[in-house]
Amino acid sequence: MIDLLGYIVILGLTVQAFSGLTFLISSVWEKEKQATIFGGIQFSGMLGLLILFIYWKASGFFATGIGAFILIFFFIAAVFGIVACVRRTPANQRALEGTKGLIVGNVERFDESRHVFARNRALIPGSDPYKAFYQKHPELEAGDAARREKGGPLGHPGTVDKPHDGPNVAATFASLSLCMWLSTLDKVKPQAHPECKGRTIELSSEEASIRVKGFAKSIGAALVGITEINPLWVFSHKGEIFHENWEDWGKPLETKHKYAIVCAEEMNFEMIGSAPHTSTVMESMGAYARGAFIAAQLANFIANLGYSATAKQLRYYEELLVPLAVDAGLGEAGRLGYLLTKKFGPRVRLSAVTTNLPLVPDKPIDIGVEDFCRICKKCAVCCPSKSIPLDDQKEVNGTLRWKLNSETCFDYWGKVGTDCNVCMKVCPWSHADTMPHRLIKWLVSRNSISRRLFAVMDDIFYGKRPKARPAPKWAQFKAFNT
Ligand code: SF4
Ligand code: SF4
Repeated sequence: MIDLLGYIVILGLTVQAFSGLTFLISSVWEKEKQATIFGGIQFSGMLGLLILFIYWKASGFFATGIGAFILIFFFIAAVFGIVACVRRTPANQRALEGTKGLIVGNVERFDESRHVFARNRALIPGSDPYKAFYQKHPELEAGDAARREKGGPLGHPGTVDKPHDGPNVAATFASLSLCMWLSTLDKVKPQAHPECKGRTIELSSEEASIRVKGFAKSIGAALVGITEINPLWVFSHKGEIFHENWEDWGKPLETKHKYAIVCAEEMNFEMIGSAPHTSTVMESMGAYARGAFIAAQLANFIANLGYSATAKQLRYYEELLVPLAVDAGLGEAGRLGYLLTKKFGPRVRLSAVTTNLPLVPDKPIDIGVEDFCRICKKCAVCCPSKSIPLDDQKEVNGTLRWKLNSETCFDYWGKVGTDCNVCMKVCPWSHADTMPHRLIKWLVSRNSISRRLFAVMDDIFYGKRPKARPAPKWAQFKAFNT
């Protein structure tokens, strides 16, 4: 019996040492200095213990009273630890209901024209929409005027990385131009190709769902989900104007489509690690452009099947995409206000296609985000503009959530001239999608003890306030010699 126990413990320690080694390799690859040091200590400790146990086993030490005690103690502690961290603790029923689970009162639909982005970049001082808006919201006029005076975000008038920001800003605007180009009405609401016009291809909703998801993935979507559109997440009024379509400004919006196909585009781990520098806004815009490209093609595909479809992307939104993504089962909303996916955490940008093509909706998921965010708070602690709440979720417009202060966040973007992304970078769910992190996310998703354990471990291994990592050479915000 003792002999068998010896083999089991040695096998367990071998697995532990191997996990330690993969974590160490992953940390070196991620260029995480602190995690590399602690990962090295952890691996050395595990390896030392393994060698010691092999030696004790070979020398017959486990046949002695003290040896057997140590062996049995290790075995029981390991079994207890594994069971405590792996067993599935009760699911969060609220998360499993998606956004419906978060509604606790009357929800007023979101007016896009009131959004800090829309009013600051769309409203031209002196224009009729400008006058109409500030007559309705006089409390916002002075603050917005001061913002316009200072210049807006995204490189106007400067960035944290001046004077070497030129290449990154140029690349950022290249991606933005693609979003703009794909946001004209003929592209977001495509007609069927002449070869496909006048016919409707009959598909079962199951087949249609498999086909649209497969197509979206084949053209680059990292994650795809389907939901029936909850009308509460459709904007009440149009507010963003990009193509001189001023007649649309302030226009009431209603949903014409029953379904939304929501896509998440991964943002590169290395680029996001450099937040808040220009390499990070370049990556954000690149992901938005990928989303625009995917949404445009997907809408076109559905139009060619004979159904109405509209592409929703950075320069053409009619719905709040985070709630749609939650309902489509792509993840849960985190403290920082973004969607947290299991695979990439908040390191994604969203796009969508709304349609009347009959589809099968996906189910919302519980990956433990709500509980983890309650413990973690790292984004709130690290946010340079203190825009993320440190306290618990509150009722905001009839929904229970953490409410990001988008006004102060926007002002910080204006100050650094990028879209900051510090909260995204420091989030423990944003780590690279490597084997050790996948294992940790699996544990965290199913077990409340693991959430507490790994929230603390993240602080130890990555620091309470993780520093920016260097961007890849081609995207560095400093001049370099070739
Ligand atoms: S983007 Fe920056 S300023 Fe805005 S909430 Fe995140 S960390 Fe704060
Ligand atoms: S940093 Fe922590 S608190 Fe913030 S979103 Fe990520 S897990 Fe939640």
